[in-house]
Amino acid sequence: MRLNLIMTLRANILLLPLLFTMQPHTACFAQSADIIFTNGKIFTSDTTKLYVQALAIKGNKILKVGTNFSIEKLASSKTKKINLQGKTVVPGFNDAHDHLAWLIPTGQSFNTEFSVPGPSKDAVIDSLSGLVQKAAPNQWILGTIGLTVFNDTTVRRRLLDSIAPNNPLALLIMWGHGIIANSKALMEVNIADNAADPLSGWYEREPQTNKLTGVLYEGSEFPIWQAITVAEPFRTIKALRAHAAEQLKLGITTVQNMSASLQGNAARRIFKQANLLVRTRIIAMPSATSKGRDLAEWNSAPKTIIPLTYISGIKYVIDGTTLEQTALKSKPYPNRPNWYGRLNYPVDTIRQILKEALTSNRQLMMHIVGDSTIGIVLKLMKEIGSDEQWKNKRVRIEHGNAVVSEDAVKKVSDMGIVLVHTPQYGTGSPLQKWLATGIPLAIGPDATINPYLSILTMTTQQRDPKENLTREQAVIAYTKGSAYAEFKEKEKGTLSKGMVADLAVLSQDIFTIPAEQLPSTSSILTIIDGKIVYDKFSNKNQ
Ligand SMILES: [Zn+2]
Repeated sequence: MRLNLIMTLRANILLLPLLFTMQPHTACFAQSADIIFTNGKIFTSDTTKLYVQALAIKGNKILKVGTNFSIEKLASSKTKKINLQGKTVVPGFNDAHDHLAWLIPTGQSFNTEFSVPGPSKDAVIDSLSGLVQKAAPNQWILGTIGLTVFNDTTVRRRLLDSIAPNNPLALLIMWGHGIIANSKALMEVNIADNAADPLSGWYEREPQTNKLTGVLYEGSEFPIWQAITVAEPFRTIKALRAHAAEQLKLGITTVQNMSASLQGNAARRIFKQANLLVRTRIIAMPSATSKGRDLAEWNSAPKTIIPLTYISGIKYVIDGTTLEQTALKSKPYPNRPNWYGRLNYPVDTIRQILKEALTSNRQLMMHIVGDSTIGIVLKLMKEIGSDEQWKNKRVRIEHGNAVVSEDAVKKVSDMGIVLVHTPQYGTGSPLQKWLATGIPLAIGPDATINPYLSILTMTTQQRDPKENLTREQAVIAYTKGSAYAEFKEKEKGTLSKGMVADLAVLSQDIFTIPAEQLPSTSSILTIIDGKIVYDKFSNKNQ
């Protein structure tokens, strides 16, 4: 690095006098910090020095970390001095997999508490009938369901049409892998009665007529999601800001958003207006028609929406979940002797997606759940690229639960694939084995936003207790690991000199408190890009 600098200076020899004349002016400001923290237990996520006492910030960067003595020297009369009084500080958490604007309260809607069976048919009909009374003409009517209603073939388009003939209505599985829509909703998004399946999903059809029943699987849901999300934009923006406020209270400073509900231009429009304080990476999730993937809006500019909100990477949902029995597995599903699940895309499309990842700089992320799906994808990757080529691409597998077999673990490690672990449905994942094999690990709780609940899960609840992480490992994966998972580990994720100043002062010491107290942790002071964005602490403790 230093050598490069010397060479640059030599090359720009004419600039040297200018640089020297500038030096006296900059020197008197350069060492004075804007904010200093002292007397802390500062966890850096930097394995060369995991804990330090004090830290200085200048502008949007960390100027220095070290002892109280070395940091106090950087203070001037203008420096904001914060005595941490022993409090624990961590690099801001980087939630590597969230779904912003998912299940926003748009139109007339009912929400039920998260459960796999979800509400009964009667309860759903009851709620919908009430909402129809209140709905304005053409306003969306929405509700969340689980498998009880989704698997009940009497709750289909016809029944929903009889309840809401004049309003678009959609019942959404609360974890996102299925919708039941009425006729008006299908019309709203231009899905015809006899439409061909899109490349990324499929429609359920009536056996006799082949007409759509209103059930939409996987990628075929995208148009409905977007229609809902843009229907009442002010409510979407309000929900995004409320979510960000929640994140700041928890010490989350970056979120990586899987943008299925908003395609490129709509995402640009909504996120520009939302103007969120949390660093937000928007990851393309292209919708598709029967003719192919819709990439144009994601390929176009701009990629930076506001300085802290940027578009990068691309995500594909390669198979479904075991709950709807849509993930592709090597063994048949219980009580369905010949049903192994399926892929969302044809194998040729998956090969094409992988080739695009190999020949471009757009990072590829794949949701993969079934063990057969992981086998197919890893085999295709080995066929089309070398391990070294793949390592540079940092392909991500979201959730990672499928990476269990020796063979899969080895291939993932060989190709430098990043596993984005989802704690609450990854308790069977061999976390220590992954780390021991050198697999880069990031944390993406998939819309369960409390990082301390995730840390509790990862450190105490793995089915094989040997696979539990230590709390330090969990925090490193959640900060440095998630930054690596977006090619930004040289910019953020550790508290060390030159990194952006993104950090959280915590309400309690997450490294020593009893495990069961972890979920009640919050941030008492959150800094993003050198600015205090949430503060319940510093004014009382300067
Ligand atoms: Zn997800």
